[in-house]
Amino acid sequence: MDKILVIGACGQLGSELTFSLRDIFGEQNVVASDLFQPKNELSEGLFEQLDVTDGKRLDEVVRKHKITQIYHLAAILSAKGEQNPLWAWQINMDGLLNVLEIAKAQKMNKVYWPSSIATFGPSTPKSNTPQTTVMEPSTVYGISKLTGELWCQYYFDKYGLDTRSLRYPGLIGYKSLPGGGTTDYAVDIYHKALEGGEFECFLSENTYLPMMYMPDALKATLDIMHSDKIKLHTSYNVSGMSFSPKEMGESIRKEIPNFEMSYQPDFRQAIADSWPSSLDDSKARADWGWKPKFDLQAMTADMLLNLRKMKAVSI
Ligand code: NAD
Repeated sequence: MDKILVIGACGQLGSELTFSLRDIFGEQNVVASDLFQPKNELSEGLFEQLDVTDGKRLDEVVRKHKITQIYHLAAILSAKGEQNPLWAWQINMDGLLNVLEIAKAQKMNKVYWPSSIATFGPSTPKSNTPQTTVMEPSTVYGISKLTGELWCQYYFDKYGLDTRSLRYPGLIGYKSLPGGGTTDYAVDIYHKALEGGEFECFLSENTYLPMMYMPDALKATLDIMHSDKIKLHTSYNVSGMSFSPKEMGESIRKEIPNFEMSYQPDFRQAIADSWPSSLDDSKARADWGWKPKFDLQAMTADMLLNLRKMKAVSI
């Protein structure tokens, strides 16, 4: 049985993926880790406090639990990264290289490391962005993700390490808040809609971006990790849906008719403008059968239903 280490387990993705992995592999086979102690049920299973840039400590945790697979999710995201570029580069690159080196030395079975639509830039075709195309990212986050994709390919080619990766679009879920990305508005908006307040969006109304609902992101991640049909070891485009803030507001208004929105673009608008508006994920569909389940309206209905349930429990 594989023993799995999730790094960055307390984040938006990790706090959900860790539970899915524990369901599949069993509590005793999935070790969660993060810079910080978890505040939720994550702490009920195996947990190690770990800074992934500390290679010695990572090595210690890997040996202690006899880890055979790593899901390395810890990163500084796009908006936060632009506020402190060298720090973001250090966390994103040193962390990944520590993981790849230890995985190589311990002859691990697989490493999962997420990339992002941020690997594309202003010179990339914006609509239906192909799997293979011009990639000149303009954020430090995007540069680190593109470099990371190449490192993953390098470790596969040179050392036979089975690295797997997805270029996630903006991820939307109700269980946790996002961690400083350019698509964060698409989570915050649901919370504000239920609080009855007006939502001020930091992107302009017609900014189209690729997005994905968390259940689809979890499925894509587990599918790519369990498939024996993987052909790429850089990273696969995966798409869920594409919409603008205005369309998102309209989908919420179908459920909450008096919901009001205004627009006040800030520095994140330039980042969003440099990214694709939609993705071509036909390679992932053809190679390992990727197919998303949720569209915008189905996601809105499910988000609002679950957030209402959570708020009712916490009152
Ligand atoms: P997040 O910011 O919510 O979580 C990241 C976690 O990593 C946090 O819990 C943080 O404490 C931890 N962390 C930070 N520095 C660390 C360090 N030095 N050592 C150990 N842990 C550290 O991010 P997320 O949204 O969960 O993203 C997970 C991964 O998916 C990232 O690699 C991100 O680039 C990628 N991704 C996310 C999105 C999205 O919309 N959320 C989109 C594309 C790609």
